[in-house]
Amino acid sequence: MGWQGIDGHDDVVGRFVAAEARGRIAGTYLFIGPEGIGKGSFAKALAKSLVCLDPRPGLVACGACVSCLQAAAGSHPDIDVVEKPEDRATIPLEVFIGDRENRMREGLCWRILLRPAVGKRKVAIILDADHLAEEGANCLLKTLEEPPDGAVMILVGTALERQLPTIRSRSQIIRFAPLDPDVVRRVLTAGATDRAGPDAAAIAAAAARSGGSITRARLLLDPEIESVRARLLELLSARPLHGVELSREVQACVEAAGKDAPPRRARLRIVLGSAIEFFRAALRHDAVGCEAAPTGRLDGASTDRLLEQAVAGWGGTADDAIDGLRLTLDALDGIERNAHLPTLVDAWSARLEPAPPPPPSRPVRI
Ligand SMILES: [Zn+2]
Repeated sequence: MGWQGIDGHDDVVGRFVAAEARGRIAGTYLFIGPEGIGKGSFAKALAKSLVCLDPRPGLVACGACVSCLQAAAGSHPDIDVVEKPEDRATIPLEVFIGDRENRMREGLCWRILLRPAVGKRKVAIILDADHLAEEGANCLLKTLEEPPDGAVMILVGTALERQLPTIRSRSQIIRFAPLDPDVVRRVLTAGATDRAGPDAAAIAAAAARSGGSITRARLLLDPEIESVRARLLELLSARPLHGVELSREVQACVEAAGKDAPPRRARLRIVLGSAIEFFRAALRHDAVGCEAAPTGRLDGASTDRLLEQAVAGWGGTADDAIDGLRLTLDALDGIERNAHLPTLVDAWSARLEPAPPPPPSRPVRI
């Protein structure tokens, strides 16, 4: 395991260690990188070492001081973590400046101005920075521009384009790369304590298909998701494609995640990701005119049979595959824009279905 229990992201660790050694920890950071790669965990580990009363070389928290114990318990008065509530599309204004009755007597912008309760620093972590509304961002600007002495603000988002220009220009941007599949495999293996859980080969295959995201790899290991994927591939390779049936299958999978939006979106991302894998493989199959290369192959040991079978049965053309790819990428983009998921799935499925041939024109009687 790497720095403070964080596996991977060694380059970012190196940057912070060097900045701390030079006394150059900035006031505002914007962490950017794909979902499920540990940016939030990194921010919390960094906060812990920044507020530790007896830090070790290499920006490592001692783990024993009163500050470290409070940080580990998630109750440190100088580490402030805020995020978007599950049922809201954006981070509400009151999170930053308190509700109407308590304007600037509550909220993160007020708390950050208070003197540190334990050590010399305060750290504020704003998760879900992609969902920062203009109103909330405006309240943050002054704090971001002139953070109080010793305060460190960390915003965590997935893409730079999703951040408001006013936030971007005031932050030092730290980019996080997707994790190496080996790191994903190690993290999943360390977490697989259940004997009935996935075996090493399944973990390796999920890690290889995870795109460097732990969240995605965990979903790929879910047997229910795997059976949905089998059905999805079958429906996508069939010609003509049955849009209504496709929509029904995908909606059922998304709804099984429960009422909360994040797990619903995560499931839909996995489903659409599988569709993208399929259309890419179909396109390659069409271009090369041979069996699609299995994308799940790792050390030649594990092949993606489901995908191979689906591509072998594909009855569409290269243009169909390109259209499928484009429509699926659009749908993925819709998830990030907080689109209404049932509508999005319906529209995606309907657009994949080929348009019916035009009715024969009637002969004109003269
Ligand atoms: Zn400590």
